[in-house]
Amino acid sequence: MNEPNDTLLSVERLKKHFPIKKGLMRRITGYVRAVDDVSFRIRKGETLGLVGESGCGKSTIGKLVLRAMKPTAGRIMFHLDGREVPVHELSDAELRPFRKHAQLIFQDPYASLNPRMTVREIIGEPILVNRDHDSEDMDQRVAELMELVGLDSRYLKRYPHAFSGGQRQRIGVARALALNPDLIIADEPVSALDVSIQAQILNLLHDIQQDLNLTYLFISHDLSVVEYISDRVAVMYVGKLVEVADNEDIFRRPKHPYTEALLVAVPRISGERKAHAYTLSGNVADPANPPSGCYFHPRCRYAKDVCQTKSVSLEEISPGHQVACHLASELELKGL
Ligand code: SF4
Repeated sequence: MNEPNDTLLSVERLKKHFPIKKGLMRRITGYVRAVDDVSFRIRKGETLGLVGESGCGKSTIGKLVLRAMKPTAGRIMFHLDGREVPVHELSDAELRPFRKHAQLIFQDPYASLNPRMTVREIIGEPILVNRDHDSEDMDQRVAELMELVGLDSRYLKRYPHAFSGGQRQRIGVARALALNPDLIIADEPVSALDVSIQAQILNLLHDIQQDLNLTYLFISHDLSVVEYISDRVAVMYVGKLVEVADNEDIFRRPKHPYTEALLVAVPRISGERKAHAYTLSGNVADPANPPSGCYFHPRCRYAKDVCQTKSVSLEEISPGHQVACHLASELELKGL
């Protein structure tokens, strides 16, 4: 497939199915479809927000793109300087050079930093492992990275416990930047932080994106955060994408009932209750045994008979706006 030349990452029909094993013989009795036929692309320099309820498969997509796990099927193509890197089929030896280009910012800045390592060692470790700098100029590189993320480089030899939660997440960001990556996967990077600190980290991520022309896959369950930072948004439900569109379209003109339901739950600063407020009923479907037809139909307030029997797939209903819903063209849904 020919990609537009501003594409950094393209994911095609990606699947990750985990076998369910039971009994003494550990026979496979079924599969958890954590990621099921997902396709999207990310342009260079943009932020794609990936949202959905807990357990919908969004973090698994992040792990697959980084090749922290192998996909069951599908293609993950990285477009670098006119070359195409087929991430889904890289060997272990080929993965090391690829990982310089794609890095992860973890959710929990308390658990993700080794308490026995100094900040110098934490930020410098990827540089040493990849032998990107010799040890003499590593101190200088680590100091530069600390300044870049708003940390005082005099604290190079301190341990993580000497820093606040926000500062620890800055250390995590500096470590992710150590190898000059093209893509950063930020998996719930502010959800463990106080609300007052969240905005600081989001602003930092925004500023370094501008300075370094970074591309983000930003994974979060929090739509307020995704609204703030994303250029485009992909909404995920039970292993599948159900809506992909520009930020403005997703938040003001949603076309999928699940997106509308998520938006209804977003708190507004004014505290006012929305006139059309309602509660999303029922539980997220079981990815090992999803419902027939549209997976969302047992919870959908607009469902018709066809929704129970006919499966849905993402279709473009207007330029850049994709929706997986039988009624997308006729429903009048409410945005923020
Ligand atoms: Fe609701 Fe039917 Fe659309 Fe599924 S296909 S989201 S059940 S209206």
